[in-house]
Amino acid sequence: MTDAPRLIDPFARAITYLRVSVTDRCDFRCVYCMAENMTFLPKKELLTLEELDRMCSTFIGLGVQKLRITGGEPLVRRGIMTFFNAMTRHLDSGALKELTVTTNGSQLARYAGDLYAAGVRRINVSLDTLDPDKFARVTRWGKLDQVLKGIEAARNAGLRVKINAVALKGFNEDELFTLTQWCAREDMDLTFIEVMPMGDLGNEDRVGQYWSLEDLRGDLRTRYTLTDLAEKTGGPARYVRLEETGQKIGFITPLSHNFCESCNRVRMTCTGELFMCLGQEDNASLRDIMRDSGDDNAPLIRAIEAAIARKPKGHDFDYSRQKADGQVSRHMSHTGG
Ligand code: SAM
Ligand code: SF4
Repeated sequence: MTDAPRLIDPFARAITYLRVSVTDRCDFRCVYCMAENMTFLPKKELLTLEELDRMCSTFIGLGVQKLRITGGEPLVRRGIMTFFNAMTRHLDSGALKELTVTTNGSQLARYAGDLYAAGVRRINVSLDTLDPDKFARVTRWGKLDQVLKGIEAARNAGLRVKINAVALKGFNEDELFTLTQWCAREDMDLTFIEVMPMGDLGNEDRVGQYWSLEDLRGDLRTRYTLTDLAEKTGGPARYVRLEETGQKIGFITPLSHNFCESCNRVRMTCTGELFMCLGQEDNASLRDIMRDSGDDNAPLIRAIEAAIARKPKGHDFDYSRQKADGQVSRHMSHTGG
């Protein structure tokens, strides 16, 4: 097999990064992500661990080099370490360059060592506040202490931790410097994410929660010297270095900026739907094609290639008219953030 990517979309972008949601379930109920009373999918709808292996292995065979496991909360999926351990063979062969996970951190105390043993080296932990009461409010069901212990366990196991914080107006604006200083002290990277118009907005005021990262960057500038870094990941993140501390801060700004032209990724849900763009509804249902084709992988490969051939140029999120335009109806926990 050659190293040349085989998945090239109509805009000449090589698709080398797959994000996979392994469950729609979660032990938290973050206000911007889920309703408190969620109905989760019946088990038979989900890809089994073996099917997840086959699906991911097929993508890796097609040139995917980076795999991020997400959810819902990936570490609450029963037996998930079997899947991580199965992916180790692709790291060993060199076909897969990075195996990583985005987690709320609640199960890290239990799994950090196993993740490291499976070949995971870097993880993202989502954490919006260091205040236990605010943490309980924003996650509804989470406990800050448990997450902080999980982060400690991850670092003791040798995992590099990046903190992802959703920027929420009137919620964690006042913690900008606390979070920044904490990450500097603990030598963890920090990325801020703009709140996106995902899921049923209902009575949640997503536009009112919107804290532009341009404003956040301006606030950081009042205390630090920011140097733009050239580093690009093909995603919507851009990075700066704070000269005073040397730390790296990321900004994920799918709304105020749009970096679709360098997009190298696709997302798969836990039911095997492939979303070619986070912000568009079009998807390809791969599960049944795989289930119906027995040991023959050719139909699945054809379906993946056909889906990539439909990857759109970009998304249409737009808050500029003071309403959440371009909103997609599914929750982030469905597509996997
Ligand atoms: N449960 C894991 C976690 O929280 O890290 C993984 C899945 S979660 C859906 C992935 C990321 O999406 C988290 O960092 C979360 O903060 C983010 N997220 C969820 N809903 C969002 C929204 N409406 N806007 C922006 N980010 C969101
Ligand atoms: Fe769960 Fe992550 Fe969504 Fe929070 S953001 S409810 S932790 S899936």
